[in-house]
Amino acid sequence: MAVRLARISLMKIKELVKRARKLAEPFCVTNGDKFRLKDADPGDTLHFKQDDKERSKEALAMGIDLLSTMQDMLYAQDKWAVLLIFQAMDAAGKDGAIKHVMSGINPQGCNVHSFKAPTSDDLDHDYLWRCMKVLPNRGHIGIFNRSYYEETLVVRVHPEFLEKQKLPRELITKDIWDDRFRDIRAFERYLGNNGVLIRKFFLNVSKKEQKNRFMERIENPEKNWKFSSSDAKERKHWDDYMKAYEDTIQNTATKDAPWYVVPADNKWFTRVVVAAAIIEALDSLGLEYPKVDDEKLGELAAAKEMLLGKISSAKRKNNG
Ligand code: ATP
Ligand code: MG
Repeated sequence: MAVRLARISLMKIKELVKRARKLAEPFCVTNGDKFRLKDADPGDTLHFKQDDKERSKEALAMGIDLLSTMQDMLYAQDKWAVLLIFQAMDAAGKDGAIKHVMSGINPQGCNVHSFKAPTSDDLDHDYLWRCMKVLPNRGHIGIFNRSYYEETLVVRVHPEFLEKQKLPRELITKDIWDDRFRDIRAFERYLGNNGVLIRKFFLNVSKKEQKNRFMERIENPEKNWKFSSSDAKERKHWDDYMKAYEDTIQNTATKDAPWYVVPADNKWFTRVVVAAAIIEALDSLGLEYPKVDDEKLGELAAAKEMLLGKISSAKRKNNG
């Protein structure tokens, strides 16, 4: 822990975790029953002012440094896996948040998977299948850029996608969404019981800000590649998506697998909150480097002696 955090100062770790908790908690939903999307303001920046970008950059840099140390311990401990799920409307900033927040992370201990429209192989299986195959290993952080939650979002908004799933007819009943919510809760409980810590992020962008970002993608040649006219068409279904998000969060936010409904109209703020939530999550695992036993300590001492012996004999050679 001391090695990387020498830059932040060990004394500050507790303080940083405390600050992270303060930033993340207001957006954390652990009890879905009480959640109403209308109460979540996409433009919220807490005590940060709109022009506080510099201060937020500083906060993010410290957060990233701390995250990197925590990931190192997670990897060394090799017990817990961490699964971070990102869901959002187009242009809400999923890719940017993942890129910035995870920028200090050792790629060896982290995997990112993006889930797009299902392939025919995917459609030949249940909807969890493609996600289950790539769950993170112990000691690793797995990031899902979209996930099995597309099932209760895009598939719910577009019933024709459900038709394509080749499900037995008799299984498509009026209870299908409640069944899916129950199954997802059970799946996440199962993962939790097996050492996978789950945190879910809904980057909550407003319809107005999404339009601004689409316009920028159209007008800025460097961003043209990001624009897809189908994304703009999907805006027609905005209200249905919002209902689907609200229902999904109400039904799947739990104490052990909470949703963070992160304001996403200001990208700099989104990134600070996401980093803070991950710090809070990793802190909850009480991570520490594995303690070595006496035998291992003896081994280390012997190796040190051997190395020093070699170095001094090499020095003697050079001098003589
Ligand atoms: P993103 O939109 O995540 O930034 P992208 O633009 O690179 O990524 P797309 O080709 O747009 O990738 O793929 C994402 C699209 O796939 C989204 O519109 C999403 O709703 C859709 N999708 C994901 N999972 C499913 C699913 N299970 N069924 C139907 N559509 C899905
Ligand atoms: Mg897309």
